[in-house]
Amino acid sequence: MQVITEEQISENLDSEIAFFAVQDVFKSMETQAWNFPVVRESLGFRGALYGFKSGFDPVSGALGLKAGGYWPQNADKGVANHQSSIFLFDPETGQCNALLAGNTITALRTAAASAVSIDRLAMSDSTTLGLVGTGHQSLYQLEAALRVRSFEQVKIWNRSSRDLSKHRALAETFGVACSEANLEDVVRESQVIITITSCMKALFPSDWVNSGTHIAAMGTDTKGKQELDPALCQRAKRFTDEIAQSRTIGEFQHLASDSEILTIGSILQGTATGRTGSDQITVFDGTGVGLQDLACAQAVMKRLGAS
Ligand code: NAD
Repeated sequence: MQVITEEQISENLDSEIAFFAVQDVFKSMETQAWNFPVVRESLGFRGALYGFKSGFDPVSGALGLKAGGYWPQNADKGVANHQSSIFLFDPETGQCNALLAGNTITALRTAAASAVSIDRLAMSDSTTLGLVGTGHQSLYQLEAALRVRSFEQVKIWNRSSRDLSKHRALAETFGVACSEANLEDVVRESQVIITITSCMKALFPSDWVNSGTHIAAMGTDTKGKQELDPALCQRAKRFTDEIAQSRTIGEFQHLASDSEILTIGSILQGTATGRTGSDQITVFDGTGVGLQDLACAQAVMKRLGAS
């Protein structure tokens, strides 16, 4: 069994490789690949959430799981709040082939999902990107979004003040202006908004959001979390990575069970229609599926020369 460290992953996976791995796996989820039910438990210890995400793709041979979760006080210790490890198994024998550090993969695959949604659903003439939340995931989200659209500026809001020098430097490498703004200005002035917070209630009211906006809601991945006003989700055309997860642990857990939700995979496969007008609001609820982790882990193993 090979053990792959975070350093090796950073050397062998980037936002571009992750984008294509995640895009492909979203397509595969429409046909042959499936995710197993998520286990996510509150440990009652250090406020931590812990669980497993897993799945199987018989075509790519991805079989495995990600074990890990979220420790909210880690940042105070200089450690990322998200901690995870990924196991890849040989689908022929069930033997464990590789154990990969999962933190960078999680961040890159989550940002890739958001970027796939922006690529497919945002208006092509979007000029302003709004980033809501500046925690560990946010830089990855920013880079992935800047890769798929030529924005002119990025507006950033966080509930408490943070050092945004890395965000500014990253935006600068894409020739994009980057500034902090209050939440209302970020929402009202952006045509694409990424929310990446661990919030438990709607961050802003529906009526701040202009028609034509695309929102990638990436923070809600657990029962009880929430970033968007349900009235906004009702106004919008709704997309997700996986409907079962979206209704149970994603943003659309807060919607009536008969609300229509489309998979992003169906848009990629061409079996459903994405945005149908410039005045339509689109919301992508990225809940984070196990197959995203496995696809990126496989991409790393391929680059490392594993069969
Ligand atoms: P982090 O702990 O580093 O940062 C948390 C962010 O949320 C900070 O910007 C913080 O200011 C903000 N926040 C917390 N409570 C808030 C509130 N009440 N109102 C406004 N902002 C608030 O976490 P992270 O690693 O950046 O992850 C952010 C979120 O994304 C978490 O909820 C995490 O579980 C989720 N996540 C989702 C996926 C996925 O696939 N969908 C993957 C990874 C992380």
